[in-house]
Amino acid sequence: MLSYAEFYRRSIEQPEAFWDEQARLIDWHTPYTQVLDYSRAPFTHWYAGGTTNLCHNAVDRHLKDRADQNALIWVSTEVDREVTYTYAQLHTEVQKMAAVLKAQGVGKGDRVLIYMPMIPEAAFAMLACVRIGAIHSVVFGGFASVSLASRIDDAQPKVIVSADAGSRGGKVVPYKGLLDEAINLAQSKPSKVLMVNRGLAEMPMTAGRDEDYALLAAGLAGVAVPCEWVEAAHPSYTLYTSGTTGRPKGVQRDTGGYMVNVAASMKHIFMCNPGETYFSTSDIGWVVGHSYIIYGPLLNGMATIMYEGLPIRPDAGIWWSLVEKYKVTAMFSAPTAVRVLKKQDPAYLSKYDLSSLRALFLSGEPLDEPTAQWISDALKRPIIDNYWQTETGAPVLTIANGVEQKASKFGSPGIPMYGFNVKLFNESTGEELTGANEKGVVAIEGPLPPGFMQTVWRDDARYVNTYWKSIPGRQVYSTFDWGIRDQDGYYFILGRTDDVINVAGHRLGTREIEESISSHAQVAEVAVVGVADQLKGQVAMAFAVLKDPSKAATPNDALKLEGEIMKVVDEQLGAVARPARVRFVTLLPKTRSGKLLRRAIQAVCEGRDPGDLTTIEDPTALQQVKDLVQGS
Ligand code: ATP
Ligand code: MG
Repeated sequence: MLSYAEFYRRSIEQPEAFWDEQARLIDWHTPYTQVLDYSRAPFTHWYAGGTTNLCHNAVDRHLKDRADQNALIWVSTEVDREVTYTYAQLHTEVQKMAAVLKAQGVGKGDRVLIYMPMIPEAAFAMLACVRIGAIHSVVFGGFASVSLASRIDDAQPKVIVSADAGSRGGKVVPYKGLLDEAINLAQSKPSKVLMVNRGLAEMPMTAGRDEDYALLAAGLAGVAVPCEWVEAAHPSYTLYTSGTTGRPKGVQRDTGGYMVNVAASMKHIFMCNPGETYFSTSDIGWVVGHSYIIYGPLLNGMATIMYEGLPIRPDAGIWWSLVEKYKVTAMFSAPTAVRVLKKQDPAYLSKYDLSSLRALFLSGEPLDEPTAQWISDALKRPIIDNYWQTETGAPVLTIANGVEQKASKFGSPGIPMYGFNVKLFNESTGEELTGANEKGVVAIEGPLPPGFMQTVWRDDARYVNTYWKSIPGRQVYSTFDWGIRDQDGYYFILGRTDDVINVAGHRLGTREIEESISSHAQVAEVAVVGVADQLKGQVAMAFAVLKDPSKAATPNDALKLEGEIMKVVDEQLGAVARPARVRFVTLLPKTRSGKLLRRAIQAVCEGRDPGDLTTIEDPTALQQVKDLVQGS
C-alpha cells in the first residue's frame, strides 16, 4: 500500500496521472481527451473533451445495484416527520422535478435559484437542475429579502424554487413574504416561482408567475427525463461564501472535476463505502451541504441523512439517536454545534449505541482544543478536523485515513490533502516560509485540483484580482488565513489575515488569544478583536460566553472572573496579548453558517458602522456588544 506521503507527492508532481486515476470513480459519457489544460493559468480546465452528468453519477448509475437501498433519509424534528427515499424513489422524484422545470422553460445553462428549508424537495431540485444541465444557486433559507435580492440579481435565475416556510426550534419561519419582497427589490425577475406547500404558513400566489409545485408534479409519477450530457467544465452550480469578511463571493463550480474530487474524498478522507449511511448536520445553503449532504454520499452510493432541526431538540441526544438508528458510519458537523452540545448534559452522548460510527469530522471554523477534547472523550471516536473553504469544494487540510492512518493533533486541522500544493508565505515580502513554526499566509500553488472554484460567477477579473494577486511577486491562490506548519508538517490555522491585531508593534492572531481564553474552565466560547488604541495602536478586546452565566451575575463576580481570565492569557501568551477587557455576553454575533463576525464586533467597538450584516444570525448578539461598549 502507498504511504500518504507518496500518494500526496504523486498528486503534486504528476497531477495528470493522479487525477486520471481518480476520474475512474465516476462514469463518463464521452471520455475526456486531456486531463488538465492549464494554458489559461490560473484558470484550470479539467477533463477537457469529456462529457458526463452529475445526476447520472449521483442517482441513475446506482439503480442497477441499489434501487431499493435508501438514498435520502429525511428527518425533521421541526415537523416530527421521517421519510426515506430509495434510489429508485429518488430517481422518480428527481425526474418529476426535472420535468416541471423543463416545462417552465428551464434548459442547459439557465440558472435556478433554490431558496428552501431542509426538505426533500430541495434535494430533488438540486439534482433535477444538474440532470438537465441547469445551474443551481442555493441560497440559505432564512436569509432575509435584501440578501436574497442581491443573490437573485447576481444569479439572474429563470426560475426560483421555494417553499411556504421553514421552521426553527418549533417556530415557523415564513418564506413567501420574504421571497416576494426580494423579487420586488431585484432588478432581474424570474419568470416562474415554484412553491412547495408544506402547510405551515400563508402562501399568497402571484398569478401568472407563481405555481404550486405539487399541482404541476401530480400525474408525473412515471415521467422519464433523460440526463443532459454536459462538458466537464459546464458549471454545475454557483454558491456564495459566508460573507464573514465582507461582500460574499459567487463561487462557480464545474461538473466533471467537482464530481471526481468529491467522490475521491469519500474514499480517501471519509473512509466511506457504498451502502453505508452518511450524516452531515450542515445545511444545503452551505458548501458542506452541497458536497457532503447531497453530492458526496450519493456519488458514493450511500444513504444520506438530511436533518431539519436543532441539535438539542427534543433533547441533546437527537443526533446520536440517528447515528444508532441508521448505523451512520461517518458524521460531519461544525465546532459551533459541538459547543452547543457542550453546554448540555454529556450523558446524552453515552445513551446510544454509536458502534457504527468511525469518525466525527468537524469543519467551518477553528476547532479549539478544549472542545475537541470534550467531544473526543464523550464519543470515544476519532475527531477529525478539516479545513477548507467554499472556494475549494473539498477539504484542503485534514488527514486522509483512507490512504494511511495518521494521528490527529488537536488544534491542527492536519496536513495538505492530495492535489493541494499548500505553502506559507510572508504577506509583505512574498518570501516562502519553509521552516517549522513560521507564521505566514496559507496559500495554494496552481494548478488547483479538480473541484476547486472555476471563477467568480460572471467575474473572471474579480477571481484573479481577489485571490491571485495578494501575495507580492507570487501567482498563488491566497486563502486569507494565517497559519503555521510544525516540524511534522501539520498546519495550525491562526485566524484570518484581517483578524490580526498589532499591539505596540507585536502582531497577534486573535485566534491565539481566543484559544488561550477558551482554556479557562468557565468559558464556553469567546471572540477577540483588535480595537484602535491611541497608545498602543491596537488592543485586544474579548467577549466571552460563560458555561454558567450566573458566574458573572454581579459586577464584582464579573470583574473577578475577568481578572482570572487575563491571568490565564498572561501565563500562556504573555502580558502583551492580554486583552484590555474581557466582557461577558450570552451570545456572540455569528454568520448564519456559524462563523464569528469579528469585523462587526470590531466596528462596534470602534464606534463605526458594522457594514454588511446581511449574513448575521441574530442581531441581538451584536446589540449586547453595543450595550457593553456604550455602557463602559
Ligand atoms: P467570506 O469569504 O465571504 O468572508 P467565509 O470565508 O467565512 O466568508 P466560507 O467559505 O464558508 O466563507 O469559510 C471558509 C473559512 O472558514 C476559511 O477560510 C477559514 O477561515 C474558516 N475555516 C473553515 N474550516 C476551518 C477549520 N477547520 N479550522 C479553522 N478555520 C476554518
Ligand atoms: Mg472566505
